[in-house]
Amino acid sequence: MQASVIDVPLAVDWIRRTADSVAARREHLTQLDRAIGDGDHGANLDRGFTAVIAALDAEPPQTAGGVLVLAGRSLVSMVGGASGPLYGMALRAMGRSLDAGSADAQGISAALSEAFAAIGQLGKAEPGEKTMVDAFGPAVAAFDDAVRAHRSLADAATDAARAAARGADATTAMVARKGRASQLGERSVGHQDPGATSTALLFHALAETVREPAREA
Ligand code: ADP
Ligand code: MG
Repeated sequence: MQASVIDVPLAVDWIRRTADSVAARREHLTQLDRAIGDGDHGANLDRGFTAVIAALDAEPPQTAGGVLVLAGRSLVSMVGGASGPLYGMALRAMGRSLDAGSADAQGISAALSEAFAAIGQLGKAEPGEKTMVDAFGPAVAAFDDAVRAHRSLADAATDAARAAARGADATTAMVARKGRASQLGERSVGHQDPGATSTALLFHALAETVREPAREA
């Protein structure tokens, strides 16, 4: 049955699916980063999410927000690259917002907006600069649009995942203006941004989790 709220098992399931998907796509993410960066994005995130799972197993949090805060904290401490602090701060902000607000689609929408704001605050990237912002922003907007239209959490998450994937695709045509890839300038055109690609994995995992929750988590 589709989920209509985020609780501890759902939050854990989301993070686990993201970790699995990052592990499975590790080589792909690394190849994308090799083209316009330093080739460590897949390894960075895989190491980070492996640490996240270990932390969740070691001290299972009491709240859904706590799951995301712990995940965020682990990413910040385990990932040296730009993406670790960016995803880490995003998940922490999302977790705090969830615990302070509601666990339904509306609360999740607000929490996702906080996550996006945290990425902007730390990375200062604008839309169109070929970063994770170009997948995260459209995903958050699509999620919010669906919630405002009173659609289900599953629909909102599915729309968000599609928007993130489209956003990641669209980075191929962009010139990198932030992060390591910006050193390439125009030569970054024609390559999909690794961080936008991993953001699409994160939202795909959320959509799957919400549509088919793994209740044993
Ligand atoms: P590093 O660039 O330090 O090697 P990663 O390879 O793990 O770190 O992550 C690179 C990704 O981080 C990029 O593809 C981009 O999406 C994202 N990124 C880099 N700088 C920024 C920034 N200032 N704002 C938002 N995202 C950024
Ligand atoms: Mg890199």
